Amino acid sequence: MHHFRHIGQNLHCESVDLAEVARLHGTPTYVYSAATMAGNYTRLARGLGGLDAQVCYAMKANSSLAVLRHFANLGAAFDLVSGGEIRRVLAAGADVRRSVFAGVGKTEAEIALALEHGVFSFHVESEPELARLNHVAGRLGVKAPVAIRVNPDVDAHTHAKITTGKSDNKFGVPLARAAAAYAAAAKLPHVSVKGVQMHIGSQLTSVAPFVEAVEKVAPFVARLKAEFGIAYFSVGGGIGIVYQDALASGAQEWWDAQPSDKRPITPEAYGAALVPLLKPLGLKILLEPGRFLVGNAGVLLTRVEHLKRGEGKNFLIVDAAMNDLVRPAMYDSYHEIVPLHRDTTRAALTADVVGPVCESGDCFAHGRQLQEAGEGEYLALMSAGAYGAAMASRYNTRPLPAEVMVSGGAFELVNARETFEQMTANEKVPAFLK
Ligand SMILES: *Cc1c(COP(=O)(O)O)cnc(C)c1O
Repeated sequence: MHHFRHIGQNLHCESVDLAEVARLHGTPTYVYSAATMAGNYTRLARGLGGLDAQVCYAMKANSSLAVLRHFANLGAAFDLVSGGEIRRVLAAGADVRRSVFAGVGKTEAEIALALEHGVFSFHVESEPELARLNHVAGRLGVKAPVAIRVNPDVDAHTHAKITTGKSDNKFGVPLARAAAAYAAAAKLPHVSVKGVQMHIGSQLTSVAPFVEAVEKVAPFVARLKAEFGIAYFSVGGGIGIVYQDALASGAQEWWDAQPSDKRPITPEAYGAALVPLLKPLGLKILLEPGRFLVGNAGVLLTRVEHLKRGEGKNFLIVDAAMNDLVRPAMYDSYHEIVPLHRDTTRAALTADVVGPVCESGDCFAHGRQLQEAGEGEYLALMSAGAYGAAMASRYNTRPLPAEVMVSGGAFELVNARETFEQMTANEKVPAFLK
């Protein structure tokens, strides 16, 4: 569910007419709904009712300072993957004491920064990383709290680039080797064993792989509790969102109309399946959702530059491109494309929706059925709140897009569009070329 819908003919985010945002701040611009993020967070937290649970928002999905502050205000902690993300959390006015630090290649400097700010725990991906943590913590005269990420070898049935829980992925320690890794960790003088972690992939559309993974790991978790007195079990993120019917899925009626075997994962179903498996462990439960919290809470606004009618094929050329939203090019992902001004009297159009970047991969949709659109009209790419702005680049010397947050009838620019001067500020021509 989310707060994007047409009121009359115009697409609104909460009570804000998105065309107004596009006119005021230009395009391409990401727009986020604060109420949708809060709704997602609250439903998930409620779904875990009965557990001692902490949601650690996986901020790599959308690390805008405004978004971080919003989740901190709601009670979330963070799943961090770099020193930069630690500094972002601090810059947003939140603290990292309940947050966890994940990732396969934490540098010594990043580890030191996390320790200095009292991070809740490190999610360790390998034996050499344990040695590095021990070394850095020893130098600082502290103990590094750790959980080892175990790889349950479960197929999440998702895109190859975002499946992480199979034994052939680079992530985690195989379950068969995990006991030895814990025994080794327990012997390190500057490491304290605090928990256990897993994360099997992203954009999972059914609860079955989560259930399979928890069932597979739970006996090991119970053993770690008995042997090392661990305090928590982190079950990762990965809850999927609706991309295909994105706009319609804003309404409860859409969910009610889905046959129960086709209904995408909901936080209620996720909780109902997992709480009974997790509760008997008697541990604190950590969750690290990224996409689920922000994905359907953001859209990317774009303006039509041209409708180019080709030989048997039409191209709708828009001012957003793969540098602004790389998901279609990178993951073959689908984003619903919705006109900001809906007009049912218009003719239908079948077109490839493409950006201006010089790559054939710069294509948001192939052969998409749309309402006919012409120069100057605005479109919204739906479900763009996760892995959208966070993955934007400056390819083709295009500035990073602007970001706006909406709350009720109010909206504010939360990240101004980059200027050419900002883009090139660190560059220089060397003396030997002058
Ligand atoms: C990316 C990631 C997440 C978040 O994944 P989503 O699919 O966005 O929920 C959580 N934990 C780890 C370790 C990750 O790498």
